[in-house]
Amino acid sequence: MSSLIPEEKISEIKHAADIVDIISEAVLLKRAGQNFIGLCPFHSEKTPSFTVSPDKQMFHCFGCGEGGNVFSFLMKHQGLSFPEAVRAVAGRYGIDLPVYTDRRQRKAASERQRLLNVNRQAFQFYRRSLADGHRGEAVRAYLEKRGILAPAVEKFGIGYAPPGWDNLLRYLTARGVSPNLAQTAGLVVPRRQGGGYYDRFRNRVMIPIFNLAGEVIAFGGRVLDDAEPKYLNSPETPLFNKRRTLFNLQRARTRCRQSGEVIIVEGYFDLIALDQAGVENVVATLGTALTPDHVRVLKGHAQRMVLVYDGDAAGRKAAERSHEIFGRQNVDARVALLPEGHDPDSFVARHGAEAFRKLVAEAPGMFSFLLEAAAARHGDGIAARLRVVAELVPVLAQIDDRVARSLYVRELADRLEVPERDILDRIRGAVRSGAARAGFAEPGPPAGSTTADEDPAQDASEGRFRIERQIVAMMVQHPAAIAEVERRQAVDRFEHDDLKRAAAFLLQNAALLQDDPGAAVERMPDDRLRRMLTSMIVGPETWDDRACRILLEQFEAACQRRRDDLQKRIEAAESSGDQELLLKLLKERQSRAEMKSVPF
Ligand SMILES: [Zn+2]
Repeated sequence: MSSLIPEEKISEIKHAADIVDIISEAVLLKRAGQNFIGLCPFHSEKTPSFTVSPDKQMFHCFGCGEGGNVFSFLMKHQGLSFPEAVRAVAGRYGIDLPVYTDRRQRKAASERQRLLNVNRQAFQFYRRSLADGHRGEAVRAYLEKRGILAPAVEKFGIGYAPPGWDNLLRYLTARGVSPNLAQTAGLVVPRRQGGGYYDRFRNRVMIPIFNLAGEVIAFGGRVLDDAEPKYLNSPETPLFNKRRTLFNLQRARTRCRQSGEVIIVEGYFDLIALDQAGVENVVATLGTALTPDHVRVLKGHAQRMVLVYDGDAAGRKAAERSHEIFGRQNVDARVALLPEGHDPDSFVARHGAEAFRKLVAEAPGMFSFLLEAAAARHGDGIAARLRVVAELVPVLAQIDDRVARSLYVRELADRLEVPERDILDRIRGAVRSGAARAGFAEPGPPAGSTTADEDPAQDASEGRFRIERQIVAMMVQHPAAIAEVERRQAVDRFEHDDLKRAAAFLLQNAALLQDDPGAAVERMPDDRLRRMLTSMIVGPETWDDRACRILLEQFEAACQRRRDDLQKRIEAAESSGDQELLLKLLKERQSRAEMKSVPF
């Protein structure tokens, strides 16, 4: 990989780092034998298939196939470039990297760095505008009146965008920032007529939005008067994706891990109010409802997620829709609905932090909440109860966990006094039609079982595939066996192209594989095969020389059976006089004899 950082530095950093340590910041990992497992941050899943190997310093997800080393994890998870990932790890382990200051390299610094720099300057500008002058003083007084006290202003880095069209623009240009770059950062907007730009945020209280590394990536602005819109956030930029970003996560995550719980509110002022009251495991969405991506991000920090909604009609409606976000993601989702007329800010102001904590602690699970909400909406009577069932069946059909589902079915049956059987029948119907819609087949028989009409040739081919795959896995997991694989020329006789290419690659990289299997696998140029090899590296198998020999002998026996079988079919074709078949079989024998290892 090309970067400005010398290869030996990269290797030093990689050896100093602990992948478990670094991935733990984003994913809850638990030990499973030699490895650690957790719920994958790259796809939705309910049973953990995301595996981290401390021995190999690699990760792999058996669900979606993502995998790699500590740098690839950071690149994929935080959207970093390779040099940025290397720097992030180096910084964490106190390894000095030279600062590149010559002009050519400065020019090469990524757009991302330049955008972060612009945001940092804007942050300083807004901070200074709040600290200085009598206008700043008036805004501080306003904040205080709204209950946001000086310590919170400091803690959250709150600032102020003064009125006027180009205060920030002039400040940035004076510091060498091009208007174009400021526009990419979302801070200025091009004028509709006559060219030029103007400030996006004017006469607003400014709340900086940080990423997990503590860098400013965007801003939220709230008006001081009755102007519209009341809240204005930065637009999407290369740094800021509002569907993934959660306000305050960089601060709240330690508390979330400690308590296993994260509280989700809808606005940053609500969050700041809660924080001031001492409730610190809170995050807020930014100008969007909670998304499945948010849930995936949060899953790395807490299993129990409590969504807090205002007690008005809109809040009630949003709460009822929220179950869709969780879909099949296996989290303990709960809903806390505030009393009518309250938002979190006004609720803690009136009732205090303890009352809020109690409300959160007693928040019903998503299903119970939906059940009560539907029951309240439809009222009583048989027709009403059937409507409630009809409304909840699709929700139940989405739940994969059978135990959880049967508990909910019982809850629903008890609450509405409807037989469980009737509900189960409807769920089955919904699952079937849902599966048909999504294009899923009904699950087939488990692998390894045989059915009467199975094609024997197909079966043999599958068996052959399994054994070839096992040999490749063995070469990765126990590189000492490679010499024996080579001596027996096993790879030349592989029938499956992908496995043959992978095995040939391993033969060629045998030396590095002995030293550093992770590094060797990273060199595989084909993405798909690299993923396969990574999955094998973190696989559970353990080998000794005897097991290796047995596997290779099984393989040779299978090759022999295949030859014998072909020979028999050739003889049968000869004696029956089927010339066409005979020619086909002879060709097959010829092509097998010609099989050579694929050069890499
Ligand atoms: Zn995955």
